[in-house]
Amino acid sequence: MAANPVASTEVPTVKLLIGGKFVESRSQQWREIVNPATQQVLARVPFATPEEIDAAVASASEAFKTWRKSAIGVRARIFLKYQQLIRDNMKELAAILTAEQGKTLPDAEGDVFRGLEVVEHAANIGTLQLGEVANNVASGVDTYTVLQPLGVCAGITPFNFPAMIPLWMFPMAIACGNTFVLKPSEQDPMVTMRLVELALEAGIPPGVLNVVHGGEAAVNAICDHPDIKAISFVGSTRVGTHVYQRASLNGKRVQCMMGAKNHAIVLPDANKEQTLNALAGASFGAAGQRCMAVSVAVLVGDAQKWIPELVAKARTLKVSAGVDEGTDVGPLVSCAAHERVVGLIDRGVAEGARLELDGRQPTVPGYEDGNFVGPTIFSGVKPEMEIYHQEIFGPVLCVMGAATLDEAIAIINANPNGNGTALFTQSGAAARKFQEDIDVGQVGINVPIPVPVPLFSFTGSRASKLGDLGPYGKQVVLFYTQTKTITERWFEDGVSAGGVNTTISLK
Ligand code: NAD
Repeated sequence: MAANPVASTEVPTVKLLIGGKFVESRSQQWREIVNPATQQVLARVPFATPEEIDAAVASASEAFKTWRKSAIGVRARIFLKYQQLIRDNMKELAAILTAEQGKTLPDAEGDVFRGLEVVEHAANIGTLQLGEVANNVASGVDTYTVLQPLGVCAGITPFNFPAMIPLWMFPMAIACGNTFVLKPSEQDPMVTMRLVELALEAGIPPGVLNVVHGGEAAVNAICDHPDIKAISFVGSTRVGTHVYQRASLNGKRVQCMMGAKNHAIVLPDANKEQTLNALAGASFGAAGQRCMAVSVAVLVGDAQKWIPELVAKARTLKVSAGVDEGTDVGPLVSCAAHERVVGLIDRGVAEGARLELDGRQPTVPGYEDGNFVGPTIFSGVKPEMEIYHQEIFGPVLCVMGAATLDEAIAIINANPNGNGTALFTQSGAAARKFQEDIDVGQVGINVPIPVPVPLFSFTGSRASKLGDLGPYGKQVVLFYTQTKTITERWFEDGVSAGGVNTTISLK
């Protein structure tokens, strides 16, 4: 949806957060936030002006002067309190999220919860931001490292996890001693803003966390701003590649988690019922709008006979508004997304894939205006088809066949994306071979959506990621800090200083 030129006063406006205050934007450019199940306008979000973005960065720069020296315990206790506040407000957060994004209420709680786990991780910063020390690297000389915060960091987030992904970013950045400017998705910033309010309530000081809204111009301003040291981006491959290149050229540290095409291989020895449930849940849950959704199933050998049962399973899923109890598949986020997904299904039919289940016109009583697409399954999909090489980001599963596990692995390794993959089997030997040979960053064995918990890092690979370090886990502490190495020697009084050392050796 295009941005509207002026703000209307009829619906609430989403505020900017600058210097600890929620402020009304002076922008002339606004966009409506729309409930995707009903088309009700919930609020309007501004596209922040260049001056507002500068003010947010300036406030973060100022706050960094003191925040960088804050004690570990001070930082940790804020996140201890924050995790409790998120728990206490879980139902409200999920309700806001479902209203603006569309996913079901239980899945919205999951979205908040997977972010909450990162907040819990941030509360553990004392054991994460540790340096190393080596005693006597030369006689009487010690070397140690400290992990120091970088300065102002920024986060740019997508629409599909408006709670989890902002929580991947600012808690760990701030816990490491940085200050932060967040640019949430302009499609559904309301739950993000509620989480930001709670973060301030937990004790994040003024200026340490700032929020600006907008789209392309705001993102480019963040990429170009000389006072921003690092950017964490999550979103599409097209935009992420642009952000990575533009911000890297400006000398920033950048990590970009991007698009995907996640394949699941099914071997004929797999537990059939569990596998079909997992495939249906991972393909159609959140209406397929997950970067780790299964979008291609590669059925090996006799598993290809399971298609009718997979179709039957998908037919049982209830398509309705996320607030409706028992809903499995909510609406797509926008009318534009709906049009795009239906267009891709049309294209799949035109290109000769077999449409086993057509979700283009689901009946959803009471929500006739919603952006619904029901579970859709294609078989006979070929790599050259558009439905295979594009990320559909809707409830559409492409089914392919392979004669052997090796053939299935070769299909996946030939695909440019490397976000997630899964194997369904009862064979340990097959699982061992798969995890060893597959060239994908996050691997599930009988686990369809292997998003790592924050003890580990998110490790998408190849075309799904730019930058070496992931957005949480141990890796993110390295991303949000600069390692400083100190080599020191102390002379006792009265010890002879020795002669001049003109060599590189420590003597
Ligand atoms: P998107 O790339 O359209 O938007 C992401 C962010 O970029 C938003 O904040 C948006 O305002 C901004 N943006 C949009 N167009 C821009 C432009 N032309 N120039 C500069 N900035 C721009 O992504 P989306 O549609 O919100 O999210 C879905 C995508 O995100 C999918 O591709 C999905 O796979 C991906 N994703 C990846 C992960 C991961 O961890 N790998 C997680 C979630 C989502």
